[in-house]
Amino acid sequence: MFVHQRQGSLEVICGPMFSGKSEELIRRIKRAIIAKQKVQVFKPALDDRYDASAIASHSQRKHEAIPVKNTEELLRHLDPEAQVVALDEAQFLDEGLIPIIEELANRGVRVIAGGLDQDSNGEPFGIMPILLAKAEYVTKLQAICMVCGALAGRTQRMVHTGGQVLVGAAEAYEARCRHCHETPH
Ligand code: ADP
Ligand code: ZN
Repeated sequence: MFVHQRQGSLEVICGPMFSGKSEELIRRIKRAIIAKQKVQVFKPALDDRYDASAIASHSQRKHEAIPVKNTEELLRHLDPEAQVVALDEAQFLDEGLIPIIEELANRGVRVIAGGLDQDSNGEPFGIMPILLAKAEYVTKLQAICMVCGALAGRTQRMVHTGGQVLVGAAEAYEARCRHCHETPH
């Protein structure tokens, strides 16, 4: 049955590292471009893995993105004509983003946010739990556990240097299932 849907919504793509969030985000961006939509892509400036001005997946798929240090900078770059606004690594962006996303979705923009739902201790990461609560559509992806081969919903930190953020160091992390995931004590 066809159900009429008004434009403007929030989609969240979450999961651990290596679960394919960036691939899925890039796939949605490419399809929106094929549909001739005006798309703008942002990423936090602190995420400089592979490329400073692109989002890149671990499988080397790429798409251009505007690096922004905070919500203020994002607002300065925001194109009022954009029909689709995509954000990668949304867990690193500040709380100021939440009302901006709401406003965009309310005025008809399709907002797509990708990000880690849990940090490497298995705790909710940054603004992601709020975005998940506010989203119309949530895609939760899983990777493959590097210990047992099961589906993995968590990110294991292999290097313990303290702090929640250790950016751009894929080799410092591994996807793990809940049984194989270990948190430092
Ligand atoms: P994310 O954005 O969630 O970190 P990416 O889209 O960057 O994920 O990368 C997903 C790709 O990573 C997969 O298609 C696969 O090629 C690769 N990969 C590497 N390690 C794993 C793993 N443990 N489980 C699943 N995919 C992995
Ligand atoms: Zn496992």
